[in-house]
Amino acid sequence: MRIAIIGAGAMGTLFAGRLADSGQEILLVEVSLAQIDAIGKHGLRISDEAGETRHILPIGTADRYVGVVDGLVVFTKGMHTRAAVEACRHLIGTETWALTVQNGLGNVEAIEASIGRDRIIMGMTNWPASLVEPGHVQVPGTGEIRIWSAAGMHSQRLDTISEMLSQAGLRCVLDPRVEISIWEKLAFNAAMNSLAAVTNLTVGQMADRPEARALVFAILEEALLVAKARGIDVDAERTRRSVEFAFTHHRPHKPSMLQDRLAGRAMEIDTITGAVAAQASYCGVAAPVTATFARLLTLLDGDTRHS
Ligand code: NAD
Repeated sequence: MRIAIIGAGAMGTLFAGRLADSGQEILLVEVSLAQIDAIGKHGLRISDEAGETRHILPIGTADRYVGVVDGLVVFTKGMHTRAAVEACRHLIGTETWALTVQNGLGNVEAIEASIGRDRIIMGMTNWPASLVEPGHVQVPGTGEIRIWSAAGMHSQRLDTISEMLSQAGLRCVLDPRVEISIWEKLAFNAAMNSLAAVTNLTVGQMADRPEARALVFAILEEALLVAKARGIDVDAERTRRSVEFAFTHHRPHKPSMLQDRLAGRAMEIDTITGAVAAQASYCGVAAPVTATFARLLTLLDGDTRHS
């Protein structure tokens, strides 16, 4: 298949390398000149538990490419989804599908501005990846992908995409109840990312400070209550365990919102912390801690990017 990966950052390049190795034709759509330059000149480097691979792939802004693609895989940060997909409209044909396993809420709606909901596949992935430098992605573990149609129905397209991902070594499971995984990860990210980005604490430092722990769990519980109010059958105990697991096993990790803030990049506030606060307000659920963190993050985001 001919697939455009929109956002050739950490996750986009991981998926690109794996899909290209399994025989798919990959076009990387990116706006970062550093990333375009590095991958254009030296290829893409992927370091994982098996070693290092290098991939020569086309990369550029959307206007570099012509002709429709079979699929779009969207891996920008949430606040860039709508504009990034809109810039690729000339690549979208009547059968083109779009896959989003980005974190947070609102990505399906942002993609829907350019492509019908019946052709959008949504989901969740817990594959970990981070950019070491432009053109070089580190993949410190493995993960899986869970997907379902954003329109709620099973289709041949879902089977094809799931098989394609699994054949590329990106284990994919079809899950009609994928919203549960999306919300459990949203609750986890709203709690860990928000606290880390406001306080500068790593995961281990948050685990060691009773005040930080209390705030992490306050946001987590609020997000889980909102999910329940939305009728999503999240497993609260499993989500709490995933936080405790991270507290023990991912101690040096700086959650992505903190990494973005330190690097002067925009943070995924509206699709994560702000999304939980907005959904709480919509459902009439009290989420004062999350709402306060969403405001603090917005203040910090403005400071970071205007300085
Ligand atoms: P990233 O910041 O490394 O990559 C995003 C890329 O999108 C950047 O290279 C940026 O330049 C590019 N971009 C921004 N605007 C664009 C546009 N208009 N057109 C094309 N490209 C554009 O982010 P990431 O870590 O790869 O995360 C992507 C998404 O996946 C996020 O929603 C994140 O929360 C989610 N996610 C990340 C991980 C992880 O471990 N990194 C795991 C699961 C999910």
